Amino acid sequence: MTKLFGTNGIRDIVNEGLTPNFIADIVSGIATIFKGTIVVGTDARLSSTAIKNIVMGTLAMNGIDVIDLGYAPTPAIQLYVKNHSEINGGIIITASHNPPEFNGIKCLSSDGSEIDKNLEDKIEEVYFNKQYLRRAWNDIGNISKTEAALPEYIDNVIVHLPYRKKIKTLKVVIDGANSVGSLTSPFIVEKMGHIPITINGNLQGTFPSRHPEPVKENLQFLIDSVKALNADVGIAHDGDADRCVFIDNKGNFIPGEYSLAIIAKDIVSRNGKGLVVTPISTSSIVEKTIKEYNGVVKYTKVGAPPVISAMKESNAVFGGEENGGLIFPFHLYARDGGMSLAYMLSILESSEISLNDLFSSMPKLGFVKKKVYCPGDKKMEVMKNIESTLEDAQYEKIDGIKIHHGNSWVLIRPSGTESIIRIYAEAETEEKAQNIAEGYINKINEIIKM
Ligand code: MG
Repeated sequence: MTKLFGTNGIRDIVNEGLTPNFIADIVSGIATIFKGTIVVGTDARLSSTAIKNIVMGTLAMNGIDVIDLGYAPTPAIQLYVKNHSEINGGIIITASHNPPEFNGIKCLSSDGSEIDKNLEDKIEEVYFNKQYLRRAWNDIGNISKTEAALPEYIDNVIVHLPYRKKIKTLKVVIDGANSVGSLTSPFIVEKMGHIPITINGNLQGTFPSRHPEPVKENLQFLIDSVKALNADVGIAHDGDADRCVFIDNKGNFIPGEYSLAIIAKDIVSRNGKGLVVTPISTSSIVEKTIKEYNGVVKYTKVGAPPVISAMKESNAVFGGEENGGLIFPFHLYARDGGMSLAYMLSILESSEISLNDLFSSMPKLGFVKKKVYCPGDKKMEVMKNIESTLEDAQYEKIDGIKIHHGNSWVLIRPSGTESIIRIYAEAETEEKAQNIAEGYINKINEIIKM
């Protein structure tokens, strides 16, 4: 059976994979499984409102009461579902950081977290067997609308700030990627008593100013703006604002593993100890940073859902990914762009130190991420072959194979969806990490040729 749900719900190109008929069918499947009241919210993509109307109409036709939350960050929609016990679930229309021609459908369960694999399988089963539960003509759901999700999210973030001592006012440049982060983050900054300056702040569904993935190469305008405006912090979201990355007061892009480590250190040190969860591919900078505060890292498979479920199971104090997706269990079991922004500002406003001071004080490690082409039917063979050559090397198999060589490591991980094997390497310098990665790329190419 073809899988419809990937690691982030259903995602495809609008009017290619994601056609009106497909949307109506899959949402009929969702409506067959869900009951009661469901909220629907969207990012700012060109297609989002049109898709939302198909989704809402289909849910109502299938007996579900719908509340339209309009444009909202993914975590704001998740928080709204979590905070309102009368709501049974949610549908988010977003393709997160993908280019503008994509869109997607993500389902939430009643606690606001993404639905689990079991429920996805059930929805797919209904879809493929076309076993939709159709309702009588007089059993149609109601469609209503609320503007409450955004202010509730803003207020909830503010309530969960760690520090109440404000000794300085910060100038913060916010790059909302022309999407929904602009609807909440500037207001969070303002409510905290700081000065928000927005760039790419108007909602424009073609993302004309920059690609919605918040990686360094897409953020030059933000970096230049922070420098030109002499700002204290720059922040950038992805298309649905569940991720947040930072630019320091000198215009340096802070790699996501460093912002993860800065906040992890703060939470663990305040707590006196604590478990932090992150995928196996994350830099050991997090582990090194929290160790002296009695912090321990638990590694999971790659992706946010395994991090979140491990956090729930092990009562973790914090978790997240190196791409700027940070999870604060005291607020929401989800990647939370607004909370990430507010937490970092709270650290900075309550002390004399700047973000550059925090970043500069951390040890630097060389990290590279590579990919190598490998046909799907060769992946198993490659992995077995690599494992057989390891002998007494220290390695672990949480997701792919992670091999430790003294102070460095390499992770070899076949992609679940593409014909590639990903290679992540870390060492004291980038050059060393590069060499390690290249060594394995050559090895993999040889195995494929055999
Ligand atoms: Mg996202």
